[in-house]
Amino acid sequence: MTEQDCLFCKIVSGDVPATVVRETDRTLAFRDINPQAPTHVLVVPKAHHPTAADLASSDAGLLAELVRGTHEVAVAEGVAESGYRVVFNTGPGAGQTVFHVHAHVLGGRGLNWPPG
Ligand code: 5GP
Repeated sequence: MTEQDCLFCKIVSGDVPATVVRETDRTLAFRDINPQAPTHVLVVPKAHHPTAADLASSDAGLLAELVRGTHEVAVAEGVAESGYRVVFNTGPGAGQTVFHVHAHVLGGRGLNWPPG
């Protein structure tokens, strides 16, 4: 997949609409279109990196910003105190379907362990 075909690059550029909940110079957070919990927000870098592992190798500082952003989303959504889950599906076998790294922020209900 090229960046031109990338769905989340299109959300970052505004070509595909999304409900944005938080934006910084280098990151964007928006609601998942198919929420799996009362709070289900995706936090992405604006720059295209396919997976969390790629981002860790190429810009560890940006990965740290992304993780900080997940907590700020959780606070803003009111789920930080009750607890929330941050998930980076990495690779097709783990369920990654969009190859632009994104952190899922899930909260607002009990979350079982291990996940499915
Ligand atoms: P993955 O399966 O790659 O870990 O997560 C991709 C996520 O993107 C899924 O939870 C899916 O519901 C979400 N998604 C897919 N297409 C869109 C879209 O067009 N808009 C938004 N906001 N989320 C999407």
